[in-house]
Amino acid sequence: MISFDDGYKTVHTNLLPILYKFEKKYGRKVKVVLFINPGNLTSKNSVNSAHLGCQELREGFKKGFYDIQSHGMNHKNLANLPRHQLVNELLKARTELRKCTQDLDIEQTVASHFAYPYGAYNKQVKYYVSKYYLSSYLYNDQILNYSCLKDYYKIPRLIVNRQKSTKQLIEIAQGMHPKKYQKKC
Ligand SMILES: [Zn+2]
Repeated sequence: MISFDDGYKTVHTNLLPILYKFEKKYGRKVKVVLFINPGNLTSKNSVNSAHLGCQELREGFKKGFYDIQSHGMNHKNLANLPRHQLVNELLKARTELRKCTQDLDIEQTVASHFAYPYGAYNKQVKYYVSKYYLSSYLYNDQILNYSCLKDYYKIPRLIVNRQKSTKQLIEIAQGMHPKKYQKKC
């Protein structure tokens, strides 16, 4: 599973064209997961915004390229928030994402899963996320091992950023990930 956090505009300008190209070349769709903060969604497709607008999100979703999930309303560190603000971040994000995709999301798949902003969580955060979402994802540079996975609210993800070389990425994609990425059961 490939996921993209924070809903940057580049998802629409760089990633979506690649997904269209893949479909044309290989005759099948590649779907990516987007963890979005609806508080950052621009209402009109403003050219200056670094973030996606609802209309842009809808295009990729309608075409079947996006699996849209929640990353909290405003990308707050949830572990630092009082309870009422935490709940608000979780619920408002879900409501707003579903509002944006309402007519397109017949099976209600949008905003059913969560990714902790900054990967930050504690007991309280985990408890409330588990009340409103089916699973939650970390940002911890660990590879998912299904036989180890007991807690659906602590699903590991590998980190991909500019610090990782192309060679490393290819190795990871081929399953040749070094030991440090593998979590012990
Ligand atoms: Zn984030």
